[in-house]
Amino acid sequence: MTKVIRINRVGGPEVMELVDVELGPPGPGEAQVRQHAIGINFIDVYFRTGLYPQPLPGGLGMEGAGVVEAIGEGVTEVKVGDRVAYAGRPIGAYAEARNMPASQLLVLPDNVDFDTAAAMMLQGLTVQYLFHRTVPLKAGDTILFHAAAGGVGLIACQWAKLLGVTLIGTVGSDEKAELATRNGAHHVINYNKENFTTRVREITGGKGVTAVYDSIGKDTFIGSLDCLRPLGTMVSFGNASGPVDPFSLSELANRGSLFVTRPSLMAYMSTRAELETAAKSLFGVVASGEVKIDVRQRYALADVGRAHTELEARKTTGSSILLP
Ligand code: NDP
Repeated sequence: MTKVIRINRVGGPEVMELVDVELGPPGPGEAQVRQHAIGINFIDVYFRTGLYPQPLPGGLGMEGAGVVEAIGEGVTEVKVGDRVAYAGRPIGAYAEARNMPASQLLVLPDNVDFDTAAAMMLQGLTVQYLFHRTVPLKAGDTILFHAAAGGVGLIACQWAKLLGVTLIGTVGSDEKAELATRNGAHHVINYNKENFTTRVREITGGKGVTAVYDSIGKDTFIGSLDCLRPLGTMVSFGNASGPVDPFSLSELANRGSLFVTRPSLMAYMSTRAELETAAKSLFGVVASGEVKIDVRQRYALADVGRAHTELEARKTTGSSILLP
């Protein structure tokens, strides 16, 4: 038997229940992973509330790290005893142990510990594709990155600095502003105190930024378009405040032929080759110490309700993990 988090219906944190289930042997192409740490991500909230639908009853969680205990027929990517990590489907990472498609698993470098691995896979691979593929950034570019003191945000601050990109971050408190600055953000705006669009225009001398990375959604979308220079790209990659309202394409023309994209990690990691290339890039910057993964909240698996409550109440900073 193994302990997992189950939801029978969508709703608040109370719908998550810790239950015992029987874990069968790994099927063909699968590996059984004994998890040492589990990543908590805002996308888990979207699945729990039903904003992103999934079949019920179901599990939650899309990221973990641990040791391979058994492999099914035909598995070539990992072997028993390997230290591994993953980010992605199938949903169900909130568990002591689980069977995963081996094609999703990556063997960890010796110097990356389980806590770091569980915290960095989903958020780190996201920053990797956002900065290298969605908009291939180059030294000298200036970008706006919302929620700069969050899990994805702190990684983005450091990675932008590494690329020679000027990152303007937004945050919800002065403490978060200080944290984002320490992690490499060049300018930080507390959007609860200041109008971020006006400040971005001031900081860029009226020019606007090359790209906006907006994971807030509803509350910031239109203001973010106003921060872009002509031909700039709006990267709408999340909806922490709710889904973006429908808008007219003329909003893009009126602001100087803007581009808009709504990327998802899964689409960018759809092949093993893409996953391995992105992971090599992520493991490289983490192993070298150029990007530090700041695990600032740790919770027991049974305490997942508190973890979600704090994440949704904007009380967390950096990355959060569950310990089985
Ligand atoms: P964070 O740690 O960044 O937490 C979310 C943050 O969003 C909060 O701390 C808060 O920061 C800010 N926020 C603003 N408005 C709200 C609101 N109404 N309710 C709650 N939070 C709000 O989470 P993650 O690092 O896990 O994820 C960041 C975002 O990136 C999420 O939207 C997530 O869905 C998205 N994402 C998208 C991916 C993709 O491929 N498309 C992949 C990975 C993540 P503050 O107080 O500073 O405003």
